[in-house]
This record gives sequence, structure tokens and C-alpha cells, in this order.
Amino acid sequence: MPRLQIEGVNKHFGSFTALNDIWLDIPAGKLLCLLGPSGCGKTTILRIIAGLESPDSGKVLLDGNDLAILPPHRRDIGMVFQSHALFPHLSVAENISYGLRITGISKSERLERVDELLETIRLPDAGGKRINQLSGGELQRVSIARALARQPRIFLLDEPTSALDANLRETMQIELRRLQQSLNITTVVVTHDQSEAMTLADLIVVMQAGTIEQIGPPMEIYEKPRTEFVANFIGATNMLNCLWDGNCAVLGNNKLNIKSIADSSLTRGDPVKVSIRPERVELLAANRGRKPDSNQLTGTVEFVRNIGNLVEIHTRCENTSIAHTYSPQNLSTELNLREGDAVIVHLPAEHCLLYSK
Ligand code: ATP
Repeated sequence: MPRLQIEGVNKHFGSFTALNDIWLDIPAGKLLCLLGPSGCGKTTILRIIAGLESPDSGKVLLDGNDLAILPPHRRDIGMVFQSHALFPHLSVAENISYGLRITGISKSERLERVDELLETIRLPDAGGKRINQLSGGELQRVSIARALARQPRIFLLDEPTSALDANLRETMQIELRRLQQSLNITTVVVTHDQSEAMTLADLIVVMQAGTIEQIGPPMEIYEKPRTEFVANFIGATNMLNCLWDGNCAVLGNNKLNIKSIADSSLTRGDPVKVSIRPERVELLAANRGRKPDSNQLTGTVEFVRNIGNLVEIHTRCENTSIAHTYSPQNLSTELNLREGDAVIVHLPAEHCLLYSK
């Protein structure tokens, strides 16, 4: 499978900058997710790779070869769209084999390939069905099979599960990941769903307004979001408005030590934000004579909610609500807190991330 690279791509629509200096390197056989809010330029990148849109400048390289000279149908790319775009008047098998007709392979080879693909998408008996006899998940699996029929070198998917309901979406995401890994095909997926990106990706690219905010493996993006935007976009976080005092972030009367500080240009009095994931916040009993230390704030529980696999406790400290989550299975480690209880909220320095702006 080939390596796909995007080098310095820019794209404008009139005076609007849709993509600003995009650089990506997708290793052979890996899956990269383009993740970001609506309008940030994800689909435009996909369309440029497919040759459906031309960049104003920059290149798309497949194993080092510039794709610019190839029209879309010669790029060896399989593409799955948000809406499955299957032909309603053809059967499932005819839809899958549609693109194979022009490749000149024999009918028996075509039938064999369709059977193989029906097995791959786990619909071995669906070949004779009409398109309107399929469920949403089945339709999406057939459109995946159709895109894979010509054994493309690159697989592109635009919001592949967005039309499905929540349960089916999760199942499809897992199936898609297993399929991509078993085929070992270099793949780019566009999504605005962070849990889809975490499930599918070897690498996540977080985008905002035509630029790349961060690229990395899912857990790196989750644990070490480089910007406030990324921290807010991936997973839930507490984002605390503080002031920098030269050494620490200050929230009301409390000092928050931060273990690693990337920005060395901070000066005393600068407004900063401290981000900490709810599962990293610790709650301590307030009545055990413990004096609040640095990174420990006194507070009052204002809201408790148990959603089965997770308990969420919101505590008000210094006019700010801080969320803490834990798994109810870990009962031994948790206090039995209720609304109105006094607590100490510990924000461990090693899990506090600092953003200045
Ligand atoms: P979504 O998740 O909503 O599909 P996206 O991140 O995929 O969003 P794009 O479809 O890449 O976003 O569009 C990026 C921006 O470029 C948007 O503001 C869109 O309106 C604009 N845009 C895209 N295609 C065109 C076009 N052909 N002409 C003018 N503007 C366009």
C-alpha cells in the first residue's frame, strides 16, 4: 500500500481561504482522520486527494509521485460519501460490480470479486437484494464494498457513519476499523465526531478554519492537546480562567502549579487557562482536617449525576464549576457525596495543562 503525502496545499474559493498551507504524511496502510467543526476544510482536502478539486498551490503525492497529472478516475481511489449514492435500480451485486465493468475483467472474475466483497462486508447473501430492501447500516456497507471493488490504492470516506443512529454508528465504526486493518489500505476519513476519530484512527488531524491545529495518535491528542481549541474539541475538559503570577496559575485565592509549561513568553498578570480532564480531578473529604494545599481548592458539591458506567460530580470552587468523573465500579475509592457537601478538589499538577490566549 502506498504512502500519501500532502505538501503545502492552499485552496481559496473567491476571497475565502478554505485551506491554508496543509502538510500531511500518511504512512502506507494507516488510517488518518480529519477531524474538525463544520466548514473547517476537511472535505476540501478529501476532494483534492480524489482530484475532484484542484489546489491553488501545493502537491498531493502517492508514493512520491505527483497526482496532479492524473484525472480522478485514474488515481486508483475508492471513495465513500456521506449519502451512500448507490443506484436504486440495480441490485446489491450490480452496484458493487458497477465500476468493475469498465476494467475489462471477465464476467466470472467479476462475480467472484463481488462474492468476496459481500463476504468482506458480512452480507454474503445480499447480492440479489434491491437497494430499497437494505437498512441504513447495510447500505453503507454496500457502498464501502463498491468503493473497494477495484482494489483502490487509497480509500477515502466522507462522514461514513453520520447518517446512522447512535448504536449502529458505533458498530459500523468498529467494523470499518477491522476491515481497514485487515485490508491494510491507506485510508483518509473525514469526521466531525471525536469518538469516531478515536475509534478509527492511527493518526488524528484536528483542523480549524482551514488550518491544522494538531496531528498525532488519538491518545496523544487526548492526553496532550497542544491548544485550547483541541482540548475543548476532543473529550470533555475543565477550562479554568486564571492569571499567571510568574510561577503558577492563580484561580481566586488558589495557586495552581503546572508541571510542564510550553509557553516561555508568559509574564506576571497574563490571563491564562488551565485545562484538566474530569477523570484527572480528585475529590477529597473536607472534614478530615486537611488544610488546602497548592492545587487543592475548597468547594461545595452542586450536582451529582450517575449515568450507569460513569458518575459525574460538579463542584463549585471560586465561582467556577469543576467536573470530576469516576467509574461507579471503583466505589472503594470514592466518597459518598451529595449536593451541598463540602469537599476539597485536587487538581494534580501533572494533569494540568496551561494555555495562554
Ligand atoms: P462539513 O463538515 O460541514 O462538511 P468541512 O470541514 O468538510 O465541513 P468543506 O466542505 O471542506 O468543510 O468546506 C470548507 C469551506 O469552504 C466551507 O466554508 C465551505 O462553505 C467552503 N466551500 C467548499 N466548497 C466550496 C465551493 N465549491 N465554493 C465556495 N465555497 C466552498
